[in-house]
This record gives sequence, C-alpha cells and structure tokens, in this order.
Amino acid sequence: MKHPLLSIVVPCYNEEEVIQETIKRLNAFCTTLTDLDVELIFVDDGSRDRTRALLKEEVQRNPHIRIVGFARNFGHQIAVSAGIDAARGDAVVLIDADLQDPPEVVGEMIAKWREGYDVVYGVRTERPGESAFKRATALAFYRLLNKLSDVAIPLDTGDFRLMSRNVVEVIRAMPERDRFVRGMVSWAGFKQTALPYRRAERFAGETKYPLRKMLKFATDGIMSFSSKPLQMSIGLGMAAAALSLAGILYALFLRVFTNVWVEGWTALMIAVLFIGGVQLLCVGILGEYIGRIYSEVKRRPLYVVQEYIGYPEEHAPQFSRSPVVDRK
Ligand code: UDP
Ligand code: MG
Repeated sequence: MKHPLLSIVVPCYNEEEVIQETIKRLNAFCTTLTDLDVELIFVDDGSRDRTRALLKEEVQRNPHIRIVGFARNFGHQIAVSAGIDAARGDAVVLIDADLQDPPEVVGEMIAKWREGYDVVYGVRTERPGESAFKRATALAFYRLLNKLSDVAIPLDTGDFRLMSRNVVEVIRAMPERDRFVRGMVSWAGFKQTALPYRRAERFAGETKYPLRKMLKFATDGIMSFSSKPLQMSIGLGMAAAALSLAGILYALFLRVFTNVWVEGWTALMIAVLFIGGVQLLCVGILGEYIGRIYSEVKRRPLYVVQEYIGYPEEHAPQFSRSPVVDRK
C-alpha cells in the first residue's frame, strides 16, 4: 500500500556548519516514520558558503533529498514559499536548518494531523540561547501585530509547523510578494492547533537574522496584515489639526481683543516643527504602503531557481513560480 507523503521543507542560508548535522538528525527522525514516505526539501537561499556543495553530496547518498537552489539570496520567507511550491506531500512541515526546532517534535505534529488538524504550529515555551533583546522585541512584536491585524496570528510562533495539503494549496494560491508566511497560514483558516515545544539553541553558526532583516520582517508582517497604520495616521493628523485650531483661535483672540499679539518665536517654532513632523510621519506611512503596491504591480517572479536537484523525473516540480527550471 502506498503511504501518505510528508514533505519537510528546510530553508538554508549559509548553514555549512550545521547542515550535515541537520540532515543526520532529520534522517534519524524519518527512519522512525514507518507508515509515511518522506521527502526532504532543502531550499538553498543563495548561500555563499559550502552549503549547496554539501547538500549536493547528500543527494548522491540519499534519494529522499531534493534541493531547490536559488540564483541569489531572496530571504527566509521566500525560501519557505519556494519549498512549499516544490513540495508534493500530503502534509508539509516547515523547519529551520539550525536545529532550533527539534525534528522529534514533528512526530507530535504528525499525530495531531492524523487526529484531523490541518495546521499544527509550534509555540515556543522557552528560547534558550537567544539574546534578551531578541526575546523582548519578539514578545512586543507579536502582541503589537495582534492588536493591529484583522487576522488573529498566534503569539510566539515561528514558521515551525505542519500544514495539510488543503492549507498548502491556499498558500500556493496567494500571489503576494511581501510574504509573512505564519500570518498567511492563520489567514487560511481550517482546523488549527498549537503545539508547545521547547526551542533549542542554534546548533552552530550564527543567526541569519540581523536587526536590519528583523525590522524588515516585522514591517512586512504589520503592513501585509493591517491597514491600521494608515488609519492611525489619519487620527494623528486630526489630533494635530485640533491642536493647531486651538493655537489659531488663541492667536486670533490675542490679536483682536488684546494689545499683546506679538507672542514671539517659541510658539511659532513649536507649531511649525510639530506639524512638519506629523506630516512627514504620515507621508512615510503612506510611502510604505505605496512602495509595497509598486512591488506588487511589477509582478516579478517571486524567486529565481537556478537548479532543482534530486527530483525524480516524474516528480519534478510542475508549478514553480520561477522562470528558470534546470532539473537534475
Ligand atoms: N534563512 C534563509 N534566508 C535568509 C535568512 C535565513 O533561508 O536570508 C534561514 C536560515 O538558514 C534558517 C532559518 O532561515 O534555517 C532561520 O534563520 P535563523 O536561524 O538565522 O533565524 P533565528 O532563528 O535567529 O531567528
Ligand atoms: Mg535560528
């Protein structure tokens, strides 16, 4: 009898120090899955180190391994999306390459999937080895996002999750360029459930999410799932207008009814600077959305695949969004 297929998607960017260990751990885990077929899809997000060479070596030894090799670095969320596009499984698991998400937890996710859940997302109960700064900003970010977003996005989740084919098809049908995958999965609906797990430390190497990428990721999350910043800028504008009106009335009152209308420089400066600041802020918020509209209307491919490796001919990815398809 044919078993259901599980696709495990692993985005990798400059992970030469961990990749072999990750493959070893994933393989060891997969051998425990006796009633499932497995494919391991490594999306090499344009690594500049030996990651892809090491992956290619593994493909020779292991027929379950596939590589989606990007032409350059496109970013974590796009790499995950390409893995989802290339996966054929009845269920698809997203997992980081650095072993922070223990492969063994996937076993519990599969059990929940068999109970009938379409999405099983990991919730981090502990995050050892991550800086206090990262933990605090993550904590604040997920709470802020939930306040702003119309879609309820679970707190303290990453992309570590299992999704059924139904949900995968929904994600594949979403063409947007600014991809905040965990939000998109929440948006899809179906039966979703949380699975608490203890996040491990990065096995080796260092984080590929410097502050700059984290900020981009956070704005992507907020901008893709909320237009509240625009409404807030209207509120801010109205508050500033109300304050100015009070100032105008005060100035007029002094001019008409008293003899002391030269109030001096301070009040003038405060008003000019305040209104100028509020205006720039609102224009900036507007600009963020317009920039995103611009990148959407260009309709460029979401990513460029240089090579697909390890796909048996009959399984070659059919629906890649990438223009270049070199299958080996
Ligand atoms: N990653 C990627 N492209 C990038 C940055 C990161 O594919 O541009 C991958 C990385 O290899 C890892 C995962 O995304 O598998 C999460 O990255 P990382 O562990 O550095 O983030 P952190 O856990 O520190 O938030
Ligand atoms: Mg990590």
